Amino acid sequence: MTYQINHFINGQSYSDLNRTQNIYNPATGKIIGTVAMAEEQTVNKAVTSAKNAFPKWSAMPSTRRVRILFELRSLIEKNMNELASLISQEHGKTINDALGSIQRGIDALEFVCGIPFLVKGSYAENVATDVDSYTIRQPLGVCVGITPFNFPAMIPLWMFPMALACGNTFILKPSEKDPSCSIRLVELAKEAGLPDGVLNVIQGDKEAVDVLLRHPDVKAISFVGSTPIAEYIYQTGVSHGKRVQAFGGAKNHCIIMPDADLDQAVDALIGAAYGSAGERCMAISVAVAVGDDVADALIKKLKPKVENLKIGSGTLPETEMGPLITQQHLERVKSYVDLGIKEGAELIVDGRHFKCSENKEGFYLGGCLFDKVTSDMKIYQDEIFGPVLVMVRVPNFEAALALINEHEYGNGTSIFTHDGYTARTFASKVQVGMIGINVPIPVPVAYQTFGGWKRSLFGDIHMHSTDGMQFFTRIKTITQRWPKYMKTEAEFEIPTIK
Ligand code: NAD
Repeated sequence: MTYQINHFINGQSYSDLNRTQNIYNPATGKIIGTVAMAEEQTVNKAVTSAKNAFPKWSAMPSTRRVRILFELRSLIEKNMNELASLISQEHGKTINDALGSIQRGIDALEFVCGIPFLVKGSYAENVATDVDSYTIRQPLGVCVGITPFNFPAMIPLWMFPMALACGNTFILKPSEKDPSCSIRLVELAKEAGLPDGVLNVIQGDKEAVDVLLRHPDVKAISFVGSTPIAEYIYQTGVSHGKRVQAFGGAKNHCIIMPDADLDQAVDALIGAAYGSAGERCMAISVAVAVGDDVADALIKKLKPKVENLKIGSGTLPETEMGPLITQQHLERVKSYVDLGIKEGAELIVDGRHFKCSENKEGFYLGGCLFDKVTSDMKIYQDEIFGPVLVMVRVPNFEAALALINEHEYGNGTSIFTHDGYTARTFASKVQVGMIGINVPIPVPVAYQTFGGWKRSLFGDIHMHSTDGMQFFTRIKTITQRWPKYMKTEAEFEIPTIK
């Protein structure tokens, strides 16, 4: 039996079934449902719903708003297992990985529950005689979140709770590949007491996104996805007068210095390169070995571990790595492995012929490992977004640092070393937004800022923490005078302090 996923507008499920798309279970390769794909009139309906809900929601004291979000937090926690199953079924990642990602979303929800303190403005008394000046932060209006397939709960939860806590109303456009989780989240938000129209979900693709990008009532867009789409969203949104932050793709390097604990580095590489089948923006996809001795030792330790990865359905407890998201993506990743061989890299582990014994039609790829990759190769330059780790050999730390700084992406990076000076120099000089030192995937916590540099982020304001609050509010400065006896004269000069 297959199911149907609809939109959620003004507190209700809404379907327009002119266009639909199949939803697959990547573990079995079977169609398990269909998703409605919004057309212009449905998107307009959602924007109107969010616009109508804005005056009342934005006028509600922030403490009351966050009480609803706090209740949502409890409901998500109660329903975590169900949400994790939905994620694993449509995305393919393991249940434990899905649970972890929901927890990171809950962390963001917990952070925004303190928003009444964060949105406070500042007050300066007597900036001139009897004149005070203060600032306030106000919501923007209707905000939009467009999210990728790889974190169907976590990334929406990074966006909409912050936007709502700040007093905005919201339209979420999740990935059409795994849309069910978004609907469970809005249902739980309604159960938590969120008024109708405050949070809406539009299912769909470019057709829906293009309407949102141009709609005059949409004030801000937060996007996470691949770099070409991020760039398009940023340019189109900004040219239509919207505030936009667009998080893009990545090619995250990990430097392994000769003084590093190699076993620790190998465990980190295995988890960060092959966890979630490499479909993470913080996955490590390039190991940068400093010196041939380090490279040879790493390859020797990595090879058996990659060959023996436990690959299968994400719902099985023993599985370490699930399938890729679609057959099309599987073919794309495989074609990069073919290309790597043609480019002259040495394929140490070839996962192209892996077949899952229980699910022969699932979108599985075995772990792949390349050695002797150079910076002119496409397998080094492009984001592959699959379980393919490439090793680049460099002679020293300076060459490793230069390699990372010359790459077009700058999302995350790590170094494994025991030398404090090297680690400190790395953190200071590397042109990347999020850094790990003896830590593989540096996804910062909810009260630190999240965001890449270079072509991994279009826009100036990061996600999370105070940056998130700044993105979803705008500031106003008020200067006031309340003298007992008001005697004024026209002044033709710029006002100065008297
Ligand atoms: P994607 O760019 O294909 O899709 C992202 C969103 O954009 C989806 O909602 C999709 O429906 C929509 N979209 C797709 N094509 C569009 C088009 N032509 N016009 C308008 N909208 C369009 O990304 P994906 O495959 O879902 O996700 C994987 C990518 O996301 C990877 O590149 C990964 O690195 C990136 N990502 C980045 C971060 C980060 O924080 N920087 C986090 C997670 C994922």
